[in-house]
Order: sequence, then structure tokens, then C-alpha cells
Amino acid sequence: MKKTARDFVHWPYRRWDRVNFFAHYTTRLVATGCVFLLALSLRSAERKPIPDKLVVLTFDDSVASQFTIVRPLLKQYQFSATFFITEGFGFATNKQDYMTWEQIQRLHRDGFEIGNHTRDHLSVTKENLPRLEEQVETINARCRKHGLPRPTSFAYPGNAITPEALPLLRRLGFQFARRGGEPEFPYAEGRGSAYEPERDHPLLIPSAGDARPKWTLDDFKRAVLLAKNGRIAVIQFHGVPDRDHPWVHTPPELFREYMKFLHDEHFHVIALRDLAHYVDPKNLPMDPLAIVQARKASQAEGK
Ligand SMILES: [Zn+2]
Repeated sequence: MKKTARDFVHWPYRRWDRVNFFAHYTTRLVATGCVFLLALSLRSAERKPIPDKLVVLTFDDSVASQFTIVRPLLKQYQFSATFFITEGFGFATNKQDYMTWEQIQRLHRDGFEIGNHTRDHLSVTKENLPRLEEQVETINARCRKHGLPRPTSFAYPGNAITPEALPLLRRLGFQFARRGGEPEFPYAEGRGSAYEPERDHPLLIPSAGDARPKWTLDDFKRAVLLAKNGRIAVIQFHGVPDRDHPWVHTPPELFREYMKFLHDEHFHVIALRDLAHYVDPKNLPMDPLAIVQARKASQAEGK
């Protein structure tokens, strides 16, 4: 077939098309990379640096005084907090000592966080693991029924922990879970450690203090003043007062002193879920209990 002029210019055109094609996709690749990097930087920009004096307040066991005494005081100081709800103990029948779901609903409407503390206050032990999902989902269902969001924070009932629970708690949608001061400190005095993000597992956050009836303002100060150098103090309370659990009772007059101290000393007081502003809950230590061993070792060395 006789070649036309068009045939002679065909090859250079095609090569030019290939150059265009290459340039086009390189541009797209670079643009995609830029968007990805921008998203990454925005994501890290979303996380704020951890300030000193960052304190998380938590209140366990659905105690009635948390609504009548604690709530107005927190509102007065504009402090946030997490209330860990269980239907255990006398919740079903003793409405003098335990909140109603309407009161819990009100706490949510006030802006406080409602966390999950299992239906029956079930200890999270290896033996109890097969029962944990139902226990958690019952509280989640109650929340749904009362128009509350599905809880993303959990507190271990009786502060019993087992690392075998971590995958299940994650699957149930929890971002953060609070434990007690044990095993680093004995239960009796309610002492604990500050939360060290990246070293502490986000589902094994230690209490820096677990208020006891014999506590004074100095015990409270010792716990909250651990909140410095990238560490966060998570404080555990029960009732204020707590008639049904006298071993973890806090006298209202003392609680007022605690809250006034936080206010006067300019602490930043948040709920457990608010840790997500500072900490990536997907950032996990290789060994969830390595930090516990490290703390015990430094205690043994007297550091
Ligand atoms: Zn409890």
C-alpha cells in the first residue's frame, strides 16, 4: 500500500502521546502523594501536644451522688468527665444510691461521657472472658435505647485485668480503657501511675489515683501532679459520698477541695474519650505489660 504523508508523521505523534501519557500519570502520582502527605500532616496536626496538668476524671458504678453532688460541681468549673455505668450492685432496685437511666441520659446531654462498666460489674478475668461480650453489649443496648452513643471507653470492674481481653475490647469498639493502680501499687492506698502514651496500652490505662475515704488533699495532689512531661493523670472516683461502697467513698467536702485545687491551679480536665485529641489509640506497645514490669523494676531500684 502506498504510504501517505500521514504515515510518515505517525510515529513521532505516537511517541509524543506516550510522553504525554507518562507526564499525565506522573503528575497524577505526585498529586496523589501530595494529598496523602497532606492528609498525614493534617492527621498529626489534629493531635495536640500533651500539655502539663492534663487530668482525666472518671466516676464508676452509677452512684446517685455522682448526679446530685458531682455533676453540679463539674459544671460549675466547666470540667468534663467520664461516668462508667454498670447495672450491677443495687442499680435495679435501690434508686436512693444508684442513678436512673434518665439521670445518665442527662449527664450525656450535659456533655459528659458515658462509658461502659459491664452489666453486672463483671471482673475481667480469663475465666470470665466468654461472658464479657454480652455484659458489654447489654450496657451498649441500654445506651442505644436511651439515645446515647455507643460507648468507646471502658473501665475494668474491680480493676481486674487480663491481657487476653484486649482483642475483644478492641473488637467491641473501645478506644480507651482504664484500669486501677495495680499491679504497680497495692490496692489499699489507691496510689497509681500517670498514663504514658505509647508505653501504656490504650486499653490498659492506669489510674494515677483511685480515691479512698482516708485520702487527704495531699493524696489527691500527689496523683494529679503526676500530669507532666507528656504524662496524663487519670483519676478514679466512686460515689461522693458512696454509702454502698464505703471502701471507696469520697466525702463531698473533700471532693470540693479537690475540684477547687484543679480549678485554682489551672488544670485541664477532660473525659477519657478526649484523650483521642492527644493520643492515637491505634499506636500500641509491642508488649502491653512491659511498662508494668519497667515501673516495678524502677520501684525496686528505689527510683
Ligand atoms: Zn466499679
